[in-house]
Amino acid sequence: MRSADDDGASQPEIDPDVLEELEFWTGPDPPEDPAEQLVPEPGGGSVVLVGTPIGNLGDLSPRAVATLRSSDVIYCEDTRHSRKLLSHAGISGVPLRSLHQHNEEDRIAEILHTVESGGKVAVVSDAGMPSISDPGRRVVAAAVEAGVVVTVVPGPSALLAALVTSGLPTDRFCFEGFLPRSARDRRVRLEALAQEPRTMVLYEAPGRVPRTLADLAVACGESRQVAVARELTKLHEETWRGSLAEAVRWAGSHPLRGEVVIVLAGADPAEATTVSDAVLTSALAERLGQGEPTRGVVDDIAAAFEVPRRRVYSLALATRRPSSDRSLPASESASALESESE
Ligand code: SAM
Repeated sequence: MRSADDDGASQPEIDPDVLEELEFWTGPDPPEDPAEQLVPEPGGGSVVLVGTPIGNLGDLSPRAVATLRSSDVIYCEDTRHSRKLLSHAGISGVPLRSLHQHNEEDRIAEILHTVESGGKVAVVSDAGMPSISDPGRRVVAAAVEAGVVVTVVPGPSALLAALVTSGLPTDRFCFEGFLPRSARDRRVRLEALAQEPRTMVLYEAPGRVPRTLADLAVACGESRQVAVARELTKLHEETWRGSLAEAVRWAGSHPLRGEVVIVLAGADPAEATTVSDAVLTSALAERLGQGEPTRGVVDDIAAAFEVPRRRVYSLALATRRPSSDRSLPASESASALESESE
């Protein structure tokens, strides 16, 4: 579409739908106080989730500032950290109360009491959206249960910022937060993620990124595409993109500093129904390494991954052959297993 500035031609008529949208944004007479814009204030109190910057103070929205300023109390993680944010925004005199994963349950009664007495309670976290890998979810669930009004002043979140800069498909994605730390839970989660067809977003502590990329390469295959977004919105923002094999080399070549999000491409639909040999071998190695009888392990893994026993048997044989085949009991020797798998 050409504009009048290009060559003096007259402007085309504005589409009525576009006009309606423009009117929505520009008028009539928006309230002067941004805190009142689009926020229902039905007489009683409310819980308001307020997004705060993930590293760049310029991302604190005017409506976030106005909402925090007009709150009766602000629940936050680190009160010293949030006090600095408030001071940057020129807000003083609003009391702060701590809200952490470990005391969230204990805070619910007082939050509901404040709201039911007509107060406005703002909930923020140290960075980004509260309730996303941060406290807030249980407060919201309790408020909903109590019939209290819950609203949001949306702000930055590392998960969406990383997703949209990754270059990977955004039409369907899932958020996985931090992977489990315990070896067993982590292995089960990685096995499930290997089959996931949607783009996956994972949070990770910088020191653990090399290990996590290596685990993902084993589970999902070295050619799977990945983006590693670091220090988003900050001075040293960078997004690295490539295959998992390249990512493992990249992450191992220098210390990774700052905050990191891993965005992983989904499994190819053809791949998604077939578990890789690497995943089966890793599951076998862990259980066989603990001295469990081969036959039971093979049966369990074949059933868990819904793959033929014959395939798991041959991987088990390959896993055991180098060092321990001679020590297998007769019933578990290679020839016994092979004949059973026929
Ligand atoms: N509630 C936050 C949000 O909405 O994004 C997430 C809090 S979670 C405790 C912290 C994790 O978010 C970090 O370990 C990192 O994975 C990610 N993160 C936060 N800020 C980031 C940034 N500026 N760049 C990259 N990742 C970030």
